[in-house]
Amino acid sequence: RDAQPAPTPAVPALEDRHPCFSPTPEGHAQAERLHLPVSPDCNIDCAFCKRDFGRQDPRPASAARLLTPDQAVAIVERAVESCPTLSVVGIAGPGDPLASEHALDVFARVRSRWPNLTLCLSTNGLMLPESIDQIAQLGVETLTVTVNAVDPAIQAQITPKIAWHRHRLDGVAAGERLIANQLAGIARAAARGLTIKVNTVLIPTVNEDHIGDIAARVAAAGAQLINIIPLIPQHRFAHLPAPGLMKRYVARAEAECHLRVFHDCKPCRADACGVSGLTDYVAELYGDGLAAH
Ligand code: SF4
Ligand code: SF4
Repeated sequence: RDAQPAPTPAVPALEDRHPCFSPTPEGHAQAERLHLPVSPDCNIDCAFCKRDFGRQDPRPASAARLLTPDQAVAIVERAVESCPTLSVVGIAGPGDPLASEHALDVFARVRSRWPNLTLCLSTNGLMLPESIDQIAQLGVETLTVTVNAVDPAIQAQITPKIAWHRHRLDGVAAGERLIANQLAGIARAAARGLTIKVNTVLIPTVNEDHIGDIAARVAAAGAQLINIIPLIPQHRFAHLPAPGLMKRYVARAEAECHLRVFHDCKPCRADACGVSGLTDYVAELYGDGLAAH
């Protein structure tokens, strides 16, 4: 008799491998993720964004230090040994991962050495249409695009200027270009089979009445999930209030009319490692000054 082929090991469903794409709080706590802070620059200028390399701030866009691609690979090596359920390697700042080549370089090296790790990319989406083929070829499975408005006039209040192919665009022209690229990038990523989450920063008096429109447009483009993140008042939006419980509830309810809402986000640092909100291996990974040389 012909020998039977060996059964192929089952690949766990994405929701079981990536905590931030799980529909349940339990799923969110069952796998560890590692963020690699390899992206120093950004190509847009969000009014709420304060990038820094301090150790203390438990928030996005903050990291202990910037890593070179070589240092990032060394951190993955350590994390694979230290974190028993590490399943995701993500790149999400402090700048935009598509504003320099470092992130995709690191992903290529992680993919070839640790093919079982899920690769996850977070971007503002400006460079997504022209980068998506390379991203898909690298085997990136999950993509997060931050979309804070689908109306250029609202977007212009949030991101008043962008750098687009070595030209500066301001105001509504900047908003039009950014939104067009975000929606085209989401559509192309969906056509290539990536699972797409949209992050939307809920900004009182600016986009709080616009969340349903955002959710409808990104769902039509191909996003599967949306994460409404309350504004942290800082930088040029330091004078605005953080949205209260009722505003957050209403925004999520409006988004839920169009696509699944992710409820368990604990805004993470750009160098986070462990189970979000539960375990933190950063001191262990960076403890001996690895990135200082
Ligand atoms: Fe900051 Fe991200 Fe906006 Fe760039 S896209 S300015 S890194 S929040
Ligand atoms: Fe997950 Fe939110 Fe942390 Fe991103 S910031 S890894 S979505 S918990």
